[in-house]
Amino acid sequence: VGSGFKQVPEDEKSKLVGNVFSSVASSYDLMNDLMSGGLHKLWKDRLVSKLHPIPGMKYLDVAGGTGDVAFRIFDSINSVSRRTTQGALEGNLDDETQINICDINPNMLSVGKKRAAERGLGDNRSLVWVEGDAEALKFGDGTMDGYTIAFGIRNVTHIEKALSEAYRVLKPGGRFLCLELSHVDVPIFKNLYDYYSFSVIPAVGELVAGDRESYQYLIESIRKFPRQEMFARMVADAGFQKVEYENLVGGVVAIHSGFKA
Ligand code: SAM
Repeated sequence: VGSGFKQVPEDEKSKLVGNVFSSVASSYDLMNDLMSGGLHKLWKDRLVSKLHPIPGMKYLDVAGGTGDVAFRIFDSINSVSRRTTQGALEGNLDDETQINICDINPNMLSVGKKRAAERGLGDNRSLVWVEGDAEALKFGDGTMDGYTIAFGIRNVTHIEKALSEAYRVLKPGGRFLCLELSHVDVPIFKNLYDYYSFSVIPAVGELVAGDRESYQYLIESIRKFPRQEMFARMVADAGFQKVEYENLVGGVVAIHSGFKA
């Protein structure tokens, strides 16, 4: 679910992001499972069900790291099988379908490619792994049908730039979806969540990843991330229409969505 960073000058933030994700890449999946009690999988399922992927479309998952969201998009498209002329059942992925996974960190991408190979998808042409920055995407204008970013936008230095890049690469009618740790308002739950965040997460980070600091920064970065309404306004300011959000687990995470007109 991620790492975050304390108040640092902008030029240092990208370097820090790089260092932290390089050091946590191998323990990343385990930490996500432990910190969210496995819930991050359900949240990602929800994100992809809202995307409602369709065969033949082009998707871009930014900050896609270990491929978690991309594999879900792939499975969702492939789950609708069809009969070939010989009567055999085959998946729905065709040559047109493209799932691009973009991440700034080569170590995170390596973990994703390794996982693809373990799933027998090492050479699959629908999965395209691209090293790149959310703030300066290496994709053309109006080329994508869907854009997803899960637990990634909090780590970019200029959120507005990442949002305007998302808008640029989407086709008219394309869908933007962002899953991010957010803000809890339910009174008693908020106290419990605060205790969990400030005390439990850094301790687990130290125990499992040997990295208390990164996970302490994670908590600070969640606190600093704009609240749901504010972030929805930022998405709308980037040009998106029909902007809305859904809180999951009382706002522990939120999924923001919008369409390019
Ligand atoms: N989306 C994955 C998931 O949900 O499991 C990975 C999330 S991980 C918390 C955040 C990812 O964002 C890391 O892989 C990191 O390398 C990537 N990242 C950070 N800054 C980025 C940027 N400016 N552009 C692209 N990726 C970035």
